[in-house]
Amino acid sequence: MTESVKHITHWIGGKPWTGEAGRQGEVFDPALGTVTAHVDFASEADVDTAVATASAAWNTWRSTTLSRRARVLFDFRAALLRRRDDIVAAITCEHGKVLSDADGEIARGLEVVEFACGIPALLKGEFSESVSTQIDVTSIRQPVGVCAMITPFNFPAMVPLWFAPIAIACGNTVVLKPSEKDPSAAVLLAECWAEAGLPPGVFNVIHGDAVAVNRLLTHPGIRAVSFVGSTPVARHVYETGTSHGKRVQALGGAKNHMVVTPDADLDAAADAAVSAGFGSAGERCMAVSVVVAVDPIGDDLVARITERMAHLRTGDGRRGCDMGPLVTAAHRDRVTSYIDAGAQAGAKLVVDGRGTDVDGSSDGFWLGPTLFDNVSPEASIYTDEIFGPVLSVVRAPSFDHALRLVNANPYGNGTALFTTDGSLARRFQSEVEVGMVGINVPVPVPAAAYSFGGWKSSLFGDTHAYGPDGLHFFTRSKVVTSKWPHTATPLARPDLNFPGNR
Ligand code: NAD
Repeated sequence: MTESVKHITHWIGGKPWTGEAGRQGEVFDPALGTVTAHVDFASEADVDTAVATASAAWNTWRSTTLSRRARVLFDFRAALLRRRDDIVAAITCEHGKVLSDADGEIARGLEVVEFACGIPALLKGEFSESVSTQIDVTSIRQPVGVCAMITPFNFPAMVPLWFAPIAIACGNTVVLKPSEKDPSAAVLLAECWAEAGLPPGVFNVIHGDAVAVNRLLTHPGIRAVSFVGSTPVARHVYETGTSHGKRVQALGGAKNHMVVTPDADLDAAADAAVSAGFGSAGERCMAVSVVVAVDPIGDDLVARITERMAHLRTGDGRRGCDMGPLVTAAHRDRVTSYIDAGAQAGAKLVVDGRGTDVDGSSDGFWLGPTLFDNVSPEASIYTDEIFGPVLSVVRAPSFDHALRLVNANPYGNGTALFTTDGSLARRFQSEVEVGMVGINVPVPVPAAAYSFGGWKSSLFGDTHAYGPDGLHFFTRSKVVTSKWPHTATPLARPDLNFPGNR
């Protein structure tokens, strides 16, 4: 290990914690192609230590007052703002997305923190006086216990921030297992929680791979699991976690379609397709990967998209480029193989990112923005989630055909319609089978007071992330029926009938 290569270890009980340290993974700077860190991979025993620590902390944290919890959330927000540049730099260094995009993910994460700051108001229960003679009913929401969070590489700060602030504000404790590809942001978040005065053990981080994940999914001390990642792993997490008695929300992959109708503002649509298709090199679950051009605007729209793509600068995210590298060499090669397959399948390769000039090291994991036209719904570039800078244009003879195409897709994360026709927009939002819908908005990530989640193979479970669904997921409801008689009403004799309200 050279001097400049960091060692990243777990965070348990409010401080860095080196566990059994048996296995490690390499963390790369994708723009340089070099190893920047070695990250410890947790053993099952390491996971058990994290869960035991979080369980012990829960005994106190669950009964910490709402006003104290809110103050910690406000202080966490302040710590995030102080450390914002460090987190942004770590994300760009390990993920590769450009600095402004990394900063954008902090901004969206902060919105969830700000939502969670309102926890004293958000957790208000209900009360009904005199539902029956001298009987009152109240409902309360209580924390569930130790919550596991298993998160993907593509938003190393934002996705943990979708869950942890709300879980903690609700009185739970957390074991976070971030992606092993870009683990530093999670550790910086842990430092922010410590700076905010969160008691040790309430927020813990363990690094690693499937060994850690599978132990979390079966550990009796874990009460709830929030997962974000690819669909096959999301399905595995949901099935294993629920069969071990846990509540699970598992958000999976996506294939987001943007439909453009003939009446649409084509310049706005082309701008949106390029920014939503190639932002973060297409490594976003809400990226647009398919543009459905409704006849007869296909040629015109493709020309406008192509013209805009010519101005994109691919390169090192620290040099003011528009688009960075892919996260690993293996992922870059996988995405490249889809471009090969798309060309072989007969789609028209309008812009080929395989030879793009790059402003960065020749060892980086580069692939330029790529555009296919006349893509058939049978081609693998259409059927599979590619998760890279590859945009496919499909031609549709009518709006109805386009809508049927979106609804036939097994994924249902996000979709967008570009139109100036209000009646089409209204039909689209009503009939489309997708969880998050944008009307003239290409990346319709819901604001923090709403909840984030897809339909069909994009989400396993019943609750979406953050917002009202987040509060619901991280609490259990309890209803208390009580009688405090102020006048004695003795029964003449015991009554064995089913109790009714009088
Ligand atoms: P991934 O599924 O490979 O990994 C996600 C997490 O699961 C990581 O922490 C990883 O260590 C762990 N993991 C990987 N393989 C595992 C296995 N076999 N068993 C147990 N755990 C395993 O996903 P990724 O490549 O990190 O992220 C990209 C994927 O995430 C894309 O499919 C993207 O669409 C999806 N995603 C979805 C959303 C959403 O909101 N729906 C948001 C972001 C990313």
